[in-house]
This record gives sequence, structure tokens and C-alpha cells, in this order.
Amino acid sequence: MIIKREQATVYRGGGRRYFTKRAAYNGAARDKIMSRCECEVSAYDDFETGYMAIPCRYHEDMDKLARLQARLARWYRHLDQASEQEQANIGGE
Ligand SMILES: [Zn+2]
Repeated sequence: MIIKREQATVYRGGGRRYFTKRAAYNGAARDKIMSRCECEVSAYDDFETGYMAIPCRYHEDMDKLARLQARLARWYRHLDQASEQEQANIGGE
């Protein structure tokens, strides 16, 4: 066999599956930002390169966007850790 089938844990974030938690939190953060994106989309716009004819407040500054996404991803990870801790505490009683 050239290819093998194997099972792996995946993490779902923002509707997609990722192999690492870190990527999943980034995906969830990106998804949240995109859900609030109000760029006026034209045929020339490209979300990958960030070129927008009339960008929204999220996409007018790609450095700021990257920082926001990283902050949001950290916040999501924190929320998950807090609720995980809470579950552990409930289970321990
Ligand atoms: Zn936008």
C-alpha cells in the first residue's frame, strides 16, 4: 500500500477541522472576525492578500487585524481552559 489510513484527533474551530488546537483557535478567531467583516466586496477584492477596494474597520490595517486575531485566539483558549477547569471542579465534588 502506498497510502495508509490512520485515525487522528482533530479540533474544530470556526466550522473547520484542524490538526492542532492552536490552528483551531486561530480559525475560530478568523471566523468571528469574518462574520463581522463589512468590506464592500468588489470583483477585485482578495481576502487572502487583504486587498480591498473599500475595507471595513477590520481589514483596513492588516497588522492590526493579525494582532486582533491573535488576541481573540488567546481569549478563546482562555475561555476553554476556564470551562475545562470548571468541569474538572464539578466532577471532583
Ligand atoms: Zn472586512
